[in-house]
Amino acid sequence: MPSTISKEEAMRRLAAAQPDGTCVMCRLSAGNRPLRAEPEATLELNGFPLRWGHLLVVTRRHVTTFSELTDDENEQASRLVLAGARAVERVVRPARVFTASLGTARGDVPMSSAHLHWHIVPVEHPGERPSDVLTWSNGVVAATADEWRSLRRTITTVLSGDAQDDVRDVHSDA
Ligand SMILES: [Zn+2]
Repeated sequence: MPSTISKEEAMRRLAAAQPDGTCVMCRLSAGNRPLRAEPEATLELNGFPLRWGHLLVVTRRHVTTFSELTDDENEQASRLVLAGARAVERVVRPARVFTASLGTARGDVPMSSAHLHWHIVPVEHPGERPSDVLTWSNGVVAATADEWRSLRRTITTVLSGDAQDDVRDVHSDA
């Protein structure tokens, strides 16, 4: 069952994952494990999930403002956000799904990547507000390698469109 680690521990792990200070979103979108890939953007598991099933959409190019975003990048990212939100609805069965772009290129905002990205966050309780959910203050989900593999497999199956009604409900494990 995925557990929760503190914001401080999550920050330590994030810093350890990018020892040379390179852009974490560039590294993620250039990686070889997207859930779905478009030429200009990718859909990824968020390694530091606010909730179990939290996905990210990342532009492949290091874009830091919406003004820089091309129409193609925007359309492909939007398609991936929709596909990811639908998959999360199917797999996690949340009360709702928050989608948000929260990054900023301003260096004085901690915990934020300058590289444009979109969060897809399943929310279990309908009364939860964005300020309750879209923060590391309440901790970050941590899971075992097996739990990550299971989540990746389930979401990939749903995204591939060949999911049957017996898709395992990972929400019951969360
Ligand atoms: Zn970047």
